[in-house]
Amino acid sequence: MSLVLTDVTLTYPDGGTRLTALDRVTLHVPKGTVTAVLGPSGSGKSSLLAVAATLVTPDAGTVTVDGVETTGLSRRALAELRRRRIGIVFQQPNLLPSLTAAEQLRVLSRRDGRALELLDAVGLADQADRRPHQLSGGQRQRVNIARALMDDPTVLLVDEPTSALDHERGAAVVDLIIGLTRRLGTATVLVTHDPVHLKDVDRVVEVHDGRLRDTTVPG
Ligand code: ADP
Ligand code: ADP
Repeated sequence: MSLVLTDVTLTYPDGGTRLTALDRVTLHVPKGTVTAVLGPSGSGKSSLLAVAATLVTPDAGTVTVDGVETTGLSRRALAELRRRRIGIVFQQPNLLPSLTAAEQLRVLSRRDGRALELLDAVGLADQADRRPHQLSGGQRQRVNIARALMDDPTVLLVDEPTSALDHERGAAVVDLIIGLTRRLGTATVLVTHDPVHLKDVDRVVEVHDGRLRDTTVPG
């Protein structure tokens, strides 16, 4: 099991009291599988991703990455664990405007072969020398995904990858993420507010008011 959240509770200050963003959330994500997280705005999806990314420490509960319990680690050890084991794809592909697709990857890690392999894996082998303005929205999102995989993470966390794309391109990006997950063996969490595209993921959970429940995708 590559990513395990156990009884995670997260609160934020809210006037004089606390707002419960995650309420005793338990989630197991095995290697090579995709868990999609659905839920309305404000339900706790981003909080769940931030905790899984070890960017936010929960009030209670544990987050285990590759068997390593993270909640007791020093900031330095956490930063190292994130760098080596966790790939994060944020909603907006914030690529550097002056760099080509291949350079976006190489700037993280000087593994030229790996950069080209990953661009090939996301269907951009022939676009390696293009800069972001020469790529479509879907292609920029693919570069963003390839970049998150440069250091061979065991956990891949993806936030709303389809929100800037039309239906067909959104579906293609989700299929790509599923394919990469199977091929590379990552434990993938895919946050989305859009339940279409999800027929091929391994599991769908829904967050409501910080609580998790299993759900099935319509259609
Ligand atoms: P989602 O990603 O599903 O929209 P979030 O995880 O962003 O949900 O938010 C869950 C709840 O926590 C919401 O009520 C939101 O207003 C609140 N919240 C999120 N981030 C913060 C923060 N930094 N400070 C205070 N409240 C927050
Ligand atoms: P996607 O399905 O990945 O979003 P599009 O259908 O938008 O792709 O783009 C189709 C083709 O047009 C791609 O091969 C891409 O390289 C090219 N293209 C898109 N935008 C630009 C641009 N601004 N400059 C040059 N080529 C572009």
